[in-house]
Amino acid sequence: MGLKIFEDLIKEVHDKGICQECGGCVSFCSSAKYNVIGYKEPNTPPVYIHKDQCLECGICYMICPQTHILDEELNKTYKFTNYNSMPIGNYDEIYSCQATDKDFLEHGTDGGVVNSILNFMLEKKLIDGAIVSKTESAFSREASYATSKADLLRSSGTKLDISPQLDAVHEISTYTHSIPGLNLYKFKKLAVIGTPCQFESIRCMQELGVTPSENIEICLGLFCYENFIFGKSQIEEFEKDFNIKFSDIKKINIKEDVIFKIKDDGNGEKIIHIPFNQLKNYMRPPCNACDDFTNLYADISFGGLGSADKFTTVITRTEKGKKLFSQVLDTGIIKCANLDSSKKKAMIKLITQFSHSKIKRKEEFMKNL
Ligand SMILES: Cc1cc2nc3c(=O)[nH]c(=O)nc-3n(C[C@H](O)[C@H](O)[C@H](O)COP(=O)(O)OP(=O)(O)OC[C@H]3O[C@@H](n4cnc5c(N)ncnc54)[C@H](O)[C@@H]3O)c2cc1C
Ligand code: SF4
Ligand code: SF4
Ligand code: SF4
Repeated sequence: MGLKIFEDLIKEVHDKGICQECGGCVSFCSSAKYNVIGYKEPNTPPVYIHKDQCLECGICYMICPQTHILDEELNKTYKFTNYNSMPIGNYDEIYSCQATDKDFLEHGTDGGVVNSILNFMLEKKLIDGAIVSKTESAFSREASYATSKADLLRSSGTKLDISPQLDAVHEISTYTHSIPGLNLYKFKKLAVIGTPCQFESIRCMQELGVTPSENIEICLGLFCYENFIFGKSQIEEFEKDFNIKFSDIKKINIKEDVIFKIKDDGNGEKIIHIPFNQLKNYMRPPCNACDDFTNLYADISFGGLGSADKFTTVITRTEKGKKLFSQVLDTGIIKCANLDSSKKKAMIKLITQFSHSKIKRKEEFMKNL
């Protein structure tokens, strides 16, 4: 049997509706200057742009997070066996932390920890820049390159500083194709912030030693239960269902449910919690075919779940992640809640519960595919 190529991804992944749009395949193919595949439209899977130039190298197929070709190698490198014995992956320690810098704390999604770490790495010149994601409008994000505290604050959290032009909205999504952006910063040392599907692809590239993964100094992974997509009709439905005006959403964060901070008429704000199961109509369909909640292959993973308001849950995983986090703790730019063993156990139990729920959702979805 010959190597499987992008044509096979179309058959086995795209046609089944499970392309996670992580951007990994496009990132490699364009970084290697083959330029065979690319995006024609936002929020859709990649397509052939110059099919006749395909070298049939098979890399796009191998690094796709939906083919799982390199799982065995990845699991060996990241010391993961299986979900039964390691429901939240291989990890060193779990913390609940908060930025001590008031700007990062105020603008952070949770405790402003991710941006505090990035800022530390920039100041210490451990990286040249970070691929982050900035808010374009409610639920809409674009990948961006940050090299300073000001850049990081501009891309902080999910604070919305641009009102969406609802009439013009075609489709907006919380998802960011951050990986294709890597090509633009070749030969720089980068930190990447990303979802589990994106890091699965990046780690596959690193496993194979293919471009542009050599630029990546550190992978800071976000927990991800699911991601959302809003076309015009979903926005109308959302506004009707929840009596929330999209343009009034000031901030979104995710713990056991999705928490919306909404502008109030009296110039204040109110908080509305919406359970995941009530947001099914807005979920990106391929997220059903994904079972990694805690970002197994990240150097450090971050989420809101398990921590109090304005705190971030931090899971250190690799040696690199552990060393970086201990340097960060020494500087005092973040502080950690005092967690005794029963509190840690409760956090792990809750995160494990969400991990299992995501695994089960995938199993059900794949059965009916
Ligand atoms: C799409 C999405 C889904 C999530 N789902 C969950 C969940 O189900 N449960 C849970 O506990 N936590 C979830 N999180 C993680 C959580 O919302 C916080 O990002 C995390 O706790 C870090 O908070 P912080 O205040 O320390 O980060 P901050 O200091 O605010 O930094 C966050 C960084 O993430 C970057 N970023 C934001 N959105 C994206 C994106 N889409 N792609 C790449 N980078 C991005 C920002 O640019 C910023 O640099 C999710 C995050 C995202 C983006
Ligand atoms: S050149 Fe290689 S990476 Fe690009 S589409 Fe063809 S098989 Fe995939
Ligand atoms: S690598 Fe990512 S974008 Fe490419 S086919 Fe696979 S899931 Fe889709
Ligand atoms: S649930 Fe998150 S990690 Fe999984 S495919 Fe969706 S966006 Fe990617």
